[in-house]
Amino acid sequence: MDERFAERMRDREVIKDTRLLGDFTAIYCRGRHKDAARASLASEGAELGVYGNRPPVVCEQCAELLRYAEKRRAFCPKDPKPFCSNCDTHCYRPDMREYMRDVMRYAGPRSMLHGHAIDGIRHLIEGRKHKKERHRTEGA
Ligand code: SF4
Ligand SMILES: [Zn+2]
Repeated sequence: MDERFAERMRDREVIKDTRLLGDFTAIYCRGRHKDAARASLASEGAELGVYGNRPPVVCEQCAELLRYAEKRRAFCPKDPKPFCSNCDTHCYRPDMREYMRDVMRYAGPRSMLHGHAIDGIRHLIEGRKHKKERHRTEGA
């Protein structure tokens, strides 16, 4: 495993964001991939204990997304990091970006029922703020 990745995965903010992505993706997977076989995520992040003793339970397609997202989050150049959906230098591959956008759209509002009230609300508020700012800039 890449030492730099392992080191980034010890950062508190990286851990928090990665867990959130895991939880959101698990909510999405349960709702959208109902018939798929699911298992605890096998990833480098999971090996490092980023998800504690409760790695997200997802299908193989969603596991692929999470393995990819772990790397993006670990090496994110933004500090402070915005929500990826509001990022002006989006680093995701277009197909993964679309996939993650779907996950967020589906799981964001539902996450409030799954112990993520604060994260769900933050997501909503930041998304709205960003839309307003973009509107103002484009209108200027
Ligand atoms: S999309 Fe932007 S905020 Fe998200 S990981 Fe990539 S650079 Fe960081
Ligand atoms: Zn899935």
